[in-house]
Amino acid sequence: MTIPLTAPTLPDAVAVLAGRRLAVLTGAGVSTDSGIPDYRGPDSPPRNPMTFQQFTGDEAFRRHYWARNHVGWRHVGRAQPNAGHRALARLEERGIVTGLITQNVDLLHEAAGSRNVIDLHGRYDRVVCLTCGTVEARTHLASRLDALNPGFADEVEDVEIAPDADAVIERTQHFVVADCQVCGGMLKPDIVYFGETVPRPRVDAAYALVDEGDALLVAGSSLQVQSGLRFVRHAAAADKPIVIVNRGGTRGDRLATLHVDAGTSETLSALADDLPDV
Ligand SMILES: [Zn+2]
Repeated sequence: MTIPLTAPTLPDAVAVLAGRRLAVLTGAGVSTDSGIPDYRGPDSPPRNPMTFQQFTGDEAFRRHYWARNHVGWRHVGRAQPNAGHRALARLEERGIVTGLITQNVDLLHEAAGSRNVIDLHGRYDRVVCLTCGTVEARTHLASRLDALNPGFADEVEDVEIAPDADAVIERTQHFVVADCQVCGGMLKPDIVYFGETVPRPRVDAAYALVDEGDALLVAGSSLQVQSGLRFVRHAAAADKPIVIVNRGGTRGDRLATLHVDAGTSETLSALADDLPDV
């Protein structure tokens, strides 16, 4: 495999990937064109992500988190898949993509029609009890939270749009949090937070998906966390070609066959048009 001396472009990616069955790893960059912010993109402000320890260890923090989540999760639910999601679903339909590992929790790959999807970091539409493991639909919890906090979501939605953190905290300090309906335990969105590990069976399934592919395509991830980077290392150790499509450099670039510095919506669409059947 020759590595081009100039900045790789779409034809270079097609040359590497043509005739191969692809495992795909996606990150937040794939969903930015659906209106879901990418906090690690080159133009995004730095941000301190919430940790699992903060969530479980601090009641005031948790109340504030749920108050914001009660407003914010609706935005994710209203998001629609974009051209990048649809291109990956088309490639799976044609048998070129064998499956997706996504770091996104927005379920937009599923909405676009992708079938073999591993939601590595969980999914926004469920909550789980940390004591008994009972899973509750996020829509069901929303109606319970609405009953406990009448009018809150409508009232705070206006505040959320204005970037005034103090105003939000002011409104959230009286928010009433809901507990597990089965055991009274602490509920948490079914999302893997910083400080948590991805469940082992899910990681193993993701490694198996990489093993099944002839090459790995990474889309819209800067691979800043080990959680995603390990699959690039795994593919590199097996000498599989790796193509990364991402705006800005990534931690996987040194392991990759090539990195196309471009947006995922247009690049994945073009790949779906140009890649031949396998
Ligand atoms: Zn429970």
